[in-house]
Amino acid sequence: MFAYVRRFIYNCRHKNNKLSGPLITEECNKALTSLIRFSQLESFKDEIQLLSNGASLCNKSNLLSLNPFLDHDGVLRVGGRMKNSPYNFNKKHPVILCGKNTFTKLLMRFEHNRLYHAGPQLLLASLREHYWPIGGRVLARATVKKCVICTRHFLVGRPLMSVPFPAPELAKPNYQAIEKIRKEFWRRWSKEFLAELQQRSKWKLSTPEPCIGDMVIIKEENSPPQRWRLGRITKLHSGTDGITRVVDVYTAKGTIRRAIHNIVRLPAQEGF
Ligand SMILES: [Zn+2]
Repeated sequence: MFAYVRRFIYNCRHKNNKLSGPLITEECNKALTSLIRFSQLESFKDEIQLLSNGASLCNKSNLLSLNPFLDHDGVLRVGGRMKNSPYNFNKKHPVILCGKNTFTKLLMRFEHNRLYHAGPQLLLASLREHYWPIGGRVLARATVKKCVICTRHFLVGRPLMSVPFPAPELAKPNYQAIEKIRKEFWRRWSKEFLAELQQRSKWKLSTPEPCIGDMVIIKEENSPPQRWRLGRITKLHSGTDGITRVVDVYTAKGTIRRAIHNIVRLPAQEGF
């Protein structure tokens, strides 16, 4: 998207030499470099100014241990001691990003999706091939924790990308027995875990009550967790004590009414 914005600006300035057609790699790379620089200017303005003037960083800077430098595009990179290692330039000198910056959060979420919802460790390791996010471990954990699809994972009990089970008639008796135990475990666990969540939201004041607009998964006893519907709360129904016990949920198949012990709230997306 930003590459198209850059092209639009270029075409406005060069009316006799306009660019058209699909974006080329160079345009995409330049757009990414611009976004990185904007992000770095937001987070490391003082450090960039000092390095641009050939000065040293102050002793209190968070980046001091990374021995940062500005490359020929003005991008802030890790200096480090890997200059003579066999790795490529990006691996030796990853781009420094701040974990609290919106661009870094979006990048982490993009990478999480690209890696088919990888866990925090793999996610961070993959990102570090090109980038060095400050506070990256915390951000990687938060990204996975706030991912709606991963939460629905969580309820299924196995990764969505895992190898499918063989058809029951083809499976060996041993495998069938293990599979039966696994299903029973997850059936009980998800049921009891959901009840635990419900109990906390009802009795512990520290856990917020459901709110209008909350995204939820609707638990349905007669269908597998993979088929449980997603919806958004549109109305709350409280008892005389003021505690919400029933909610209206808008789903792809219309609005339905459910007791709150039959819904699971998904993680909020604020901050992303
Ligand atoms: Zn995910």
